[in-house]
Amino acid sequence: MSVVASPSEASGKSRNSSNPLVFGARSYDFVEYVPCRNWIGGSFRDAMNGQSMAINNPRHNKAMGQVAMSGAADIEAAVAAAKAAWPAWKAMPIKERSQVLYNVKYIMQRDLEELAWLVSHENGKTFAEAKASVEKGIECVEMGASLANMVAGGQIDVSRGVNCEVTQEALGVVAGIAPFNFPVMVPLWMLPQALLGGNCFILKPSEVVPYGAMKLAQIFKEAGLPDGVFNVVNGGRDVVEAICDHPDIKAVGFVGSTKVAKLVYARGSAAGKKMLCLGGAKNHLVVVPDADVTLTATNVVASAYGCAGQRCMAASVMLAVGQTQHIIDAMVTEAKKIKVGVDIGPVINKDAYDRIVRYIDDAEKAGCKILVDGRGAKVAGQEGYWIGPTVIDGVRPEMPAACDEIFGPVLSIVRVASVDAAIAVENKNPYGNAAAVYTTNGAVARYCIERFEAGMCGVNVGVPVPREPFAFGGWNNSKFGNGDMTGMDGFHFWTRPRKVTSKWTVQSDTTWMG
Ligand code: NAD
Repeated sequence: MSVVASPSEASGKSRNSSNPLVFGARSYDFVEYVPCRNWIGGSFRDAMNGQSMAINNPRHNKAMGQVAMSGAADIEAAVAAAKAAWPAWKAMPIKERSQVLYNVKYIMQRDLEELAWLVSHENGKTFAEAKASVEKGIECVEMGASLANMVAGGQIDVSRGVNCEVTQEALGVVAGIAPFNFPVMVPLWMLPQALLGGNCFILKPSEVVPYGAMKLAQIFKEAGLPDGVFNVVNGGRDVVEAICDHPDIKAVGFVGSTKVAKLVYARGSAAGKKMLCLGGAKNHLVVVPDADVTLTATNVVASAYGCAGQRCMAASVMLAVGQTQHIIDAMVTEAKKIKVGVDIGPVINKDAYDRIVRYIDDAEKAGCKILVDGRGAKVAGQEGYWIGPTVIDGVRPEMPAACDEIFGPVLSIVRVASVDAAIAVENKNPYGNAAAVYTTNGAVARYCIERFEAGMCGVNVGVPVPREPFAFGGWNNSKFGNGDMTGMDGFHFWTRPRKVTSKWTVQSDTTWMG
């Protein structure tokens, strides 16, 4: 059975110079783009209420297009399309479903530059950061495709003549809700496993960065995914609430802030859905005096300022243990080398800009020392929301700069006397996404890792994202629900186990279990 067009066959259908959906930018120069409409049942539609919102390019602070701001009626239409597509998709053998993902991988690699520039324009990431995020998305697609070879269920004879087997079954129509900081990558934390599991999917991208999902819909279509299996409904809170409330949506994956993750988890759970909601973070890096100076300085800087600090895995607090001034000095030197507009992009919008600057202002007013000051940064000819790398020293553990998720290029240094004091600060924080220790001493590393209240830990690695097949997910207020989002956990989240007990003959030696 050949249901899947090869990427080269498929490419002829949608890639030609007159295709208005090809995003043509190959630099940071501002370009306008097409309206971002909903993708339901394999075609574009406007929101039924006719509403839309401007999509802002944060580097230039100019609207690059409009996004549909949908409501419950659009979710209803997407559910209907998904339900219609489900029986045939579910019936397709998993090895055939996986062929679509292989095609997606090839198409994404072919279109890597286009995707990366699109992410850069809508989100503000540098081209290198945007490209890396798309590549991580491709890795998630690879993981999903390979599942077909890994998810054979177990079976044993549990008694004489009696066999029990377990298979993972599709849930039906499921949905994912994404944040603004990774427009292509975060949807791909969910889609591969959900689709491989035989589900039909409705994605609600962040309304701030909706183009990545629009391109993904085109790529999945080109890869041979049947219409209705993947739908995109754009919008904000109304769409999220409609997803949580819809009785025919069986599971929801959410990634975003802790405040919204909690609300969505509660609302969806109350409606009887399977929910997995990843929230915000406040990640701590413990630096001890024996740490390698160059490795620590460069790695802490990369962790704190990559993607302008708008990563749930970004370093936010450096817990400097004892005599670490030499490492702080080296770190400050590294931070000062970063060129705004070249090595670091803008933050997403005015609200984010105002919030981040307020945290720096307040820390300064409270007596902290601003060792590197990113306020007032400007980039010639680009009127976006620029904040350069910022290092705040002398932050006390109870201060907002040490406790709240700032979500910008700001590193707060909290000085502590001992490793135990550092661990105590880390553990008091209600979040639990990531924590890392910088040391050349294995015993110190192990001591910290065993005690951190964080789901993803690093040793001399400031962004300890587990690469596939290891699953992504934090603890405490950074995650609501069971299991992790990617890897094999993702497959288990988007499926349900069926246990089948069979007997075919009467056995003369049957026990009470037979
Ligand atoms: P957000 O919580 O504001 O938005 C996330 C999604 O929820 C968006 O699609 C948005 O439209 C929707 N939403 C917003 N307010 C809502 C409301 N009141 N009711 C229902 N839905 C609502 O998050 P964001 O600003 O887009 O993203 C940044 C946040 O995401 C940060 O806190 C960051 O740490 C977190 N994040 C976490 C992870 C993780 O893996 N834990 C990964 C990426 C981002």
